[in-house]
Amino acid sequence: NVRVRFAPSPTGPLHIGGVRTALFNYLFAKKLNGTFVLRIEDTDQNRYVDGAEQYIIDALNWCGIPFDEGPNKNEKFGPYRQSERKHLYKQYADELIASGNAYYAFDTSEQLDFHRKDHEEKGKTFIYNWHNREKGRLVNSLVMTDEEVKNRIANGDDYVVRFKSPKDETLHLKDIIRGDIKIDTNILDDKVLFKSDGMPTYHLANIVDDHLMEITHVIRGEEWLPSLALHYQLYKAFGWEAPEFAHLPLILKPTGKGKLSKRDGDKLGFPVFPLEWKSPEGDISRGYKEDGYFPEAMVNFLAFLGWNPGTEQEIFSLQELIEAFELERVNKSGARFDPDKIKWFNHHYMQAQSDDVLAELFKAKRHELVEIDVNYIALVVGLIKERATFVSDFWELSHYFFVSPSSYDEKASKKAFKEDTADIMTQIKNIILHIDDFTVTALQTDIKNWITSNNIGFGKVMMPLRLALVGALQGPDVFDIMFMIGKNETVKRIEKVVS
Ligand code: GLU
Repeated sequence: NVRVRFAPSPTGPLHIGGVRTALFNYLFAKKLNGTFVLRIEDTDQNRYVDGAEQYIIDALNWCGIPFDEGPNKNEKFGPYRQSERKHLYKQYADELIASGNAYYAFDTSEQLDFHRKDHEEKGKTFIYNWHNREKGRLVNSLVMTDEEVKNRIANGDDYVVRFKSPKDETLHLKDIIRGDIKIDTNILDDKVLFKSDGMPTYHLANIVDDHLMEITHVIRGEEWLPSLALHYQLYKAFGWEAPEFAHLPLILKPTGKGKLSKRDGDKLGFPVFPLEWKSPEGDISRGYKEDGYFPEAMVNFLAFLGWNPGTEQEIFSLQELIEAFELERVNKSGARFDPDKIKWFNHHYMQAQSDDVLAELFKAKRHELVEIDVNYIALVVGLIKERATFVSDFWELSHYFFVSPSSYDEKASKKAFKEDTADIMTQIKNIILHIDDFTVTALQTDIKNWITSNNIGFGKVMMPLRLALVGALQGPDVFDIMFMIGKNETVKRIEKVVS
């Protein structure tokens, strides 16, 4: 029974990388009929941001990848917020101390800084491990008697519990994406697991919760790979079976060089994804949702950030992704974030939306459309959506279906208006006035016939006509436009252009 979890820290809006992690967990779980758990890792109260949890939940829902178990939902293994599980962790820290896998340390931050600096000056990295434990250079349990430790704790001295990383061992770690990894334990820190304020660190809480929540596969970002050695050792120290691990590749800047940072994110419209986000300072940032991306486009795009199906197929519905997804097909190397690609997906999913749905979205965006029949808007959308990436492009592409042009493109006017244009337009206007059955076919037949029988260049008629209707030399078929805006409006616009 596969159980995976997405375990964000509620420190702000969800970063794009976080959404990708959630998606891969979701796809993996759904493919194997497993359970997708949301766990809120809020042990670091200093970095806690109000509203972030709701933001994360809204973001997952918007993407269409809701969790099965989590805060206020199927709380079988709850609670799912680590702050509400606080009472659980101390016994596990105690257990590790009792079994000799962890120890108390009383170093002050000044002492630690001193050693860090001292090492730096000698060109070495300071690693808090057996060197420091056994040479007794730092004050900790190994050079203190049990009695002394007890006294200091009773005294109310600040302490931390550190994991006792072994000396001279080689650890064999396994990652589904990266294969076998060997680690020399001499390079590992004795990481802090628990603090005297009663709070566990990420490492302890994470392992304890993954165990208690019966997580079978840990799928997370590459930035957690350096923690894998410790996590393996923790499972061993507790005598628990470790889950399988998969570390997803980094997401790279659009240039392909370097990791995508928060700063790039701001420029590219995230990490404010996908809902409008108000920072504690009150800054409002926009997300992909507000920018007019469809969740289907987002999901399809994110799926390809580090994964590929091994075929040429690029368009995948969520269901198709679930069927095709395999962790074994996730790359090790970084995945480049390509803003053009997500636009390309959005364009695709736009075409797949019904004109009625798009018309409603369009109508909601423009006050000019308030009074206009949504069926008419849908017809317009059908004519122009092929050239749009976002609903917000619609107005630019279609305003002339709703309002008469207020000006005419200068360059186009020079090209389209000749000496005889006014005369030609007047004749065209008369033809139009005489069409009783005002259809595209009737317009086409009558106007084309007139052009051929008078032996006039096609462009001499169509260019100024288009300019009269649109205000520029662009847009869909002229006959479609005339039909859509109707006889009266067509005539009015022709009169205006020759006046
Ligand atoms: N709370 C960690 C984060 O914010 C979770 C890392 C993990 O999945 O183990 O990414």
